[in-house]
Amino acid sequence: MSARIVIIGASLGGLRAAEALTGLGVAPGVITIVGAEPHPPYNRPPLSKEVLEELGGIPDALAKTAFRLKPEVAAADWRLGIPAVAADLAARTVRLADGSDLAYDALMVATGLTPRRLPFPGGDGQRFVLRTLEDAAALRRALTPDRAVVVVGGGFIGCEAAATAARLGCKVTVVEPLGAPMARAVGAAVGAALQRVHTARGVSFRTGVGVSGLLCDAEGTLTGVALTDGRELAADLLVEAIGSVANVDWLAGQGLDLSNGLLCDNHMRVQGRGDLFGIGDVARFPNPLYDAEPRRIEHWCVPGQTARRAAETVVATLNGEAPPEAPFRPLPSFWSDQHAIRLQSFGLPAIADEMEMLEGALDTPDAVTRGVAVGYRRAGRPVAVLTIALPPGRALRHRAYLDA
Ligand SMILES: Cc1cc2nc3c(=O)[nH]c(=O)nc-3n(C[C@H](O)[C@H](O)[C@H](O)COP(=O)(O)OP(=O)(O)OC[C@H]3O[C@@H](n4cnc5c(N)ncnc54)[C@H](O)[C@@H]3O)c2cc1C
Repeated sequence: MSARIVIIGASLGGLRAAEALTGLGVAPGVITIVGAEPHPPYNRPPLSKEVLEELGGIPDALAKTAFRLKPEVAAADWRLGIPAVAADLAARTVRLADGSDLAYDALMVATGLTPRRLPFPGGDGQRFVLRTLEDAAALRRALTPDRAVVVVGGGFIGCEAAATAARLGCKVTVVEPLGAPMARAVGAAVGAALQRVHTARGVSFRTGVGVSGLLCDAEGTLTGVALTDGRELAADLLVEAIGSVANVDWLAGQGLDLSNGLLCDNHMRVQGRGDLFGIGDVARFPNPLYDAEPRRIEHWCVPGQTARRAAETVVATLNGEAPPEAPFRPLPSFWSDQHAIRLQSFGLPAIADEMEMLEGALDTPDAVTRGVAVGYRRAGRPVAVLTIALPPGRALRHRAYLDA
């Protein structure tokens, strides 16, 4: 095949796309991978966990997180440190920040997300997000013992960052607008149980409130945050973990549906196009395992699953063949580590309308840390299972709940 395949985004999704294409027999010479970051692909999950706790600088963190490239993938044309800034979908070209244009026959988009920021000025140098190695290195330098850390947002990254900061001796408070941390992802009851686990390990919570402003002194130095209930919290530094937006600006103005990511069909083709594909965190796609609603799923497993599907469609299309007929029904899964306790989920707990205990109890921190399994149903049908503090073999056995 001599067609040109361009992958934008050189992280997990871009890497998995190159692996899938070469695995299907595509020659590395026709693949170009463009990445905004100067680094080769690295693994992000440790950035809020062990790498944040131990961070010894970027080279050290990169050594711990970089993916090993297979020779056929390393042989592709890698353009690192040069973001794509625009695309002309009619002409099938992508413009890079260095002014060069890349022509393509198939364009695979794996540009991931950028953390959202609070819409308030001030506190420069004291406000942190967690997405890149540089973000983790900057936050790690600031996490010295006894500092007052306010984490805004009690989702996965907020809770993991809070746990790590507490383990490093910081005084941590999580501000979460919902009634409990992690509630959107795992439900209110499990969220409340996780909150008790955190509280028992020194993390404080303000739930049911948001941040209404930053408190800064005359020099603009952050001293605290104002909450929507009128109270204030002292803060030496702020971790903004309030979600992310998809990196699709460079595709604007081309008539694509870019609302909440890149809208794709079940073959990971951008809707209405046969030469443009979405992969990983940036892609919003329907999964008939659940329903017809397109969703973006920010879990580590999804770039690999969607890259394989997209690569199969790319190769079939470029060979003039029909893409695979079987529907794409990937099982999403995630893990999270908080205070050295492992959460493991299979399925989509966030779409459930009821839950049931399968093992253990949620009522005390001790009960949770002895091991828990929770089943989630929607309209009576199992849609997810979540385990907390169970050894991997026992956690995996609970996956059978989804077969019922
Ligand atoms: C701190 C942290 C902890 C996590 N922990 C877990 C976990 O415990 N469990 C779990 O299941 N998942 C976890 N995740 C989620 C998981 O890491 C992501 O789902 C995964 O990284 C998504 O891969 P991706 O390639 O789609 O996007 P990304 O990893 O975001 O990669 C996108 C790449 O595209 C680049 N890019 C963006 N715009 C452009 C452009 N215009 N041109 C060129 N390149 C561009 C970006 O710089 C980036 O390198 C975590 C994520 C983070 C940030």
